[in-house]
Amino acid sequence: MTFHPQDLIRHKRDSQTLAAEEIQAFVHAVVHQEISDAQIGAFLMAVFFRGLEPPELAALTQAMRFSGETFDASPLQTFTVDKHSTGGVGDKTSLLIGPILAAAGLRHPTAHGVPGICVPMISGRSLGHTGGTLDKLETIPGFDTQLSLARFESVLRACGACLIGQTPKLVPADRLLYGLRDHTSTVESPYLITASIMSKKLAESLNALVLDVKTGSGAFLQREEDARLLARLMVETGEAAGTRTVAVLTNHNQPIGRYAGNWLEVLECVDILQGRRHALSADLIELTNILSGWMLHLAGHTETPQAGAQLADSLLADGSAYAAWLKIVAAQGGDTNIFTHPERFHRVAATTTLTAEADGFLAGIDTMQVGWAVQRLGAGRLRPGEPIDPHAGIEVHAKLGDAIASGQPLVTLHAASDALLEEPLALLRTAYRVAAEPPTLEPQVRAELLLRQSKP
Ligand code: URA
Repeated sequence: MTFHPQDLIRHKRDSQTLAAEEIQAFVHAVVHQEISDAQIGAFLMAVFFRGLEPPELAALTQAMRFSGETFDASPLQTFTVDKHSTGGVGDKTSLLIGPILAAAGLRHPTAHGVPGICVPMISGRSLGHTGGTLDKLETIPGFDTQLSLARFESVLRACGACLIGQTPKLVPADRLLYGLRDHTSTVESPYLITASIMSKKLAESLNALVLDVKTGSGAFLQREEDARLLARLMVETGEAAGTRTVAVLTNHNQPIGRYAGNWLEVLECVDILQGRRHALSADLIELTNILSGWMLHLAGHTETPQAGAQLADSLLADGSAYAAWLKIVAAQGGDTNIFTHPERFHRVAATTTLTAEADGFLAGIDTMQVGWAVQRLGAGRLRPGEPIDPHAGIEVHAKLGDAIASGQPLVTLHAASDALLEEPLALLRTAYRVAAEPPTLEPQVRAELLLRQSKP
């Protein structure tokens, strides 16, 4: 069959159902650069508006999954589990969850000496208003996220977790489409998010997967019904591929933790891993423990996800997760010396602070605007492949529901120059709302979505 991109775009634009072969030809053309960025962008926008039928979504996910090499975990003879978030502001749980699960796996090796749990994590870069795990990790001098599959396997064998990205060889279709979605405002489609996340996760050869599906003002899909649709699409895709898949629907109505911005988020995680628990990091630690708890439960280490969360917390508190973090960073080429005094490594030329204009309570945060402010401080990129500023970002000084006094600092901004502070400061001023009445606070977890009720 000769593939004509214009036909594909027109068919989707006119709501016709695409054949699996057409979708496979599209993905092949993307990877082999036989289709222009304009045509890819037009197709993404058509999907954004028209959606995908279940067979189309399955075909796109599988074509992206097999667009390059895939990881075969069977030689490890261990339990493989991962988590992925649909994206958030200050969402850095992967940096804690990898080491927590690795610590649990190292404590219980298999008969062959492999950690009893392995986390073969393939992550992404910043997308839209949200940050990306790869950009955060790459702020650590030397940290390599583009490992070969052979190295990926050897790090997993030694450390129990390894965090890498899509590469020209591994899920290359997602690498290319991800960058173009970021560039063409086509991120917020439950179908494109499902294909993006699940193509990466299914390329990891997982026994189990925990999905953190965000809803609220900082989520790509802000309305709960849309987030539920996304959760269902991903759980069905994972289960159909033989991976036990759980989606946890979480509220994302404020930045997670204390910092948003690449190096600043590493700094916050190192602080927690080293045993310090700042009050403003409490939501981050709770979310980390909930997601890790599910992973430990699915791996058979605890009777319940709640017991898993307690185990996760103890692995954080007793330093085992920090020891695993140092091992993983060193194995991936990162300089662990900077963690002795991580604050000394923070290089920032310009800062300013947003302060409250009235007394009251922190009643609302437009978290998506906060995310855009962080990206425009220099933490995100305007075009695919551009460098980011590792040190740009924000420190938050208050959480929803906190009593606020006029003049009190709400957010401190960090950027490479004064000129870069102006637009983000204006965005943050409109994003933060102080009111006379305290807001009704919602718990972090809204619902857990499991399609199959049997025990793991
Ligand atoms: N994370 C991904 O990997 N892809 C998306 O589309 C959104 C979040």
